[in-house]
Order: sequence, then structure tokens, then C-alpha cells
Amino acid sequence: MPDVFADLVGQDEAVVELRRAAAAAAAVLRAGAAALVTAGPNGGNGSAGDDAVTGVDPSAGMTHAWIFTGPPGSGRSVAARAFAAALQCVHGTGCGECPGCHTTMGATNADVRMVVPEGLSIGVSEMRALVLRAASTPSGGRWQVVVIEDADRLTEAAGNALLKAIEEPPPRTVFLLCAPSTHPDDISVTIRSRCRVVPLRQPPAAAVAEVLVRRDGIAPDVAQWAASAAQGHVGRARRLARDPEARKRREAVLAVPRRLTGVGAAFDAASALIEAAEAEAEASVTEADTTERAALETALGAGGTGRGAAGALRGAAGQLKELEKRQKSRATRAQRDALDRALVDLAGFYRDALTMALRAPVAPVHTDTAALAGAGAQKWDADGALRRLEAVLACRAAIEANVKPRIAVEAMMLALWKG
Ligand SMILES: [Zn+2]
Repeated sequence: MPDVFADLVGQDEAVVELRRAAAAAAAVLRAGAAALVTAGPNGGNGSAGDDAVTGVDPSAGMTHAWIFTGPPGSGRSVAARAFAAALQCVHGTGCGECPGCHTTMGATNADVRMVVPEGLSIGVSEMRALVLRAASTPSGGRWQVVVIEDADRLTEAAGNALLKAIEEPPPRTVFLLCAPSTHPDDISVTIRSRCRVVPLRQPPAAAVAEVLVRRDGIAPDVAQWAASAAQGHVGRARRLARDPEARKRREAVLAVPRRLTGVGAAFDAASALIEAAEAEAEASVTEADTTERAALETALGAGGTGRGAAGALRGAAGQLKELEKRQKSRATRAQRDALDRALVDLAGFYRDALTMALRAPVAPVHTDTAALAGAGAQKWDADGALRRLEAVLACRAAIEANVKPRIAVEAMMLALWKG
């Protein structure tokens, strides 16, 4: 079995740094507990280069808090999980074969917690509970690792709870945060100042295709097409290569430009895009919703007829309401994610038209609609293609800023039609 960093596509520099940190962490464990603390709060402030300056402390390559940044799909959570595995690895390398590596990669290691926010944000009570549990002694004798995916979705209060833990870290606890960037909108300045940053880049299409072939057994030509169409997003590329439904949805999105023949058609296209995102989101959450509700009802003893069943059901109503609230928040998030994927596909199309109008020597994102993008390039010229690309990006930004998706998409479609 390849080592735990094998799936981190096209991120050679980050892998070198993480390997070094894992080795340093293993050295700390060998030297005895609490050695990492001697690095103090400043241990989190350094970049990789600092080690060369300080150079003497065996823990210098390691620190308590990390932020993995990069565009969606670049592998932030893959990197965090691989690093967590390397920390739990009995050889300190992330060998991929020992129990520490296996359990972490299989998400069953008792000392590794992956926090995946399901709603639009991670709340304070969730964070406090997490911080509390993270302070306990690692049962496997190595590290307690907390991975927070989408740390940009922390509420302010949750961020503060996390900051406290990062400022005074328990000796054997390591926090791994994932966020799109270190911009203050994504991660608070104070948290960022306590963390070491590992920037990931958008992996090149060739590297994504290679991993699809090697790991997922996908045919090379399909892998190449999917890697290019997914614009460096590894998970998206895999889905396009494997899931016919995902391919159909993408084709529908890429049909939008040629359907924009008038005002009415623009509004129709907006409705179609919104409804497709809703349907995709519903398909992705319905099963989980039903399973969760059934599990909760069973746990609460629904259907019981004995004494006390009525009282139990009164308390149960509150819990069911809480569950419904969480599920609704998750559905909203799934809709936004689905819509965003569609907008990224659409942006790729207009980007292709722009590069063709400019005769730039770069490969198209969507090889299957390259002819259509070429026709657009002739008709619109570079300026027109750029205006349309900007309309798509403005729509993404508006939705991100909480403009109602339908309004934002309608405005975009009109702009795409008018040019
Ligand atoms: Zn191992």
C-alpha cells in the first residue's frame, strides 16, 4: 500500500513540509511528553523557513496548530487527514501500513476527530464540546488530532472558543484547520497568527488524471477529460468520470449559452439552473435525512405504548425539531454547493471563449464544448467574452454575500444574453 501522502495530488512542497513535521513530532514523542510545549506560543507563528533559523529544537518542525489553504478540490482535507495519519503512524512517517495509519485513513482512529460542518456554520456549543474532548490524553499514546474542515464556516463565537484552545494547547493536541485562504473573511487574524500555514495549489489536470487512473482504475482518456472539465477539483473529476448523472447535469449547464435567445429564455434558463441545483441537493441529502430521523425515533422509543411513553414523546418533540433545523441548514448548504458547481462549469465555458478570442495557447477547460466556445469567441470578441465571464463570477460573489440565489442567477442570465 502506498504511503498516506500518495493521494495528495500535485502538492510536492506541502508534502515535504508535512513529512518533516511528522518526523519532528515523532522525535518529540521519543524525547518524552510535553516537549512540544517548549516551542511556546511562538511555535505557531513561524513559517517553514523559521526552522532553518532556530534549527536546534527537535520540535521546531512541528507545531500545535496548522491551516491548510487552497481552492476547493485542491485537497485541503486530504492533506489534513494524511498529516493526521503521519502523526499517528508508529514509524512517524505515514507509512500507510501500520495500525495508526490504517485507522486514521479509515476514519476509525479514536484520537483523530474530523469535524465536517453540515450546516452553513459551525456553532459555539459544538466547538466547546470538541475542544473539551480534544484536551484528553490520547488513548493511542501519540497525539489528539482535531481536523476542522471548512474552518471558514466557524461562527465568531466558535472561532473564539477554538482560539482559546489554540492559545493554550494541551501538550498532546494538534489542530488542523482547512480554509480557502488566510484572508480575514475566511479565518480570523488572531487564529491565523497562531497557526502555521500550508498553502496548497490547484493541482494540474495531468496530475489529477494520473491519480484517477492509478487509484480509481478509470480509463486514461476518460480521466483526462474529467480532470480538465473539473478544473483541478479532484473529487469533482472523480464524480464526472464515474457518475452519469453528474455528467448529465454538467451537459445541461453547458447548454445554457446556446439557449439564451431572448429575455424569456434567460428567465427560463435561470429557473432551470436553480431547479437543477435543488434537485441535485435533495438527492444528496434525502437519504441521510430519513436515516437520521429513523435512528432518532428508534432511540426515543417512538411507537412505544408502555407507561412513560407519552412523557418521553413530549421530550422527543424538541429533539426532532432540533434535528429538522439541522437538516434544513444542511439542505441549504447542499443547494448552494450544487449551484456553485454549475457556476464554475459555466465560468469555464466563457473562460474558454475568452482564451480563444485572445488566441492564447492554452488548452480549453471543456473540450466537448470547445467548438461552441470558439463560435462565441468569434461573435463576442474578447471584450464580450470577458464581460460574460465576469457576469458569472459576479453571480457567485453575490450568492456568497447572501443575495437570494434566484435573483443573482436571473441577473446573470440577463447579462449573459445581453453581453
Ligand atoms: Zn504508519
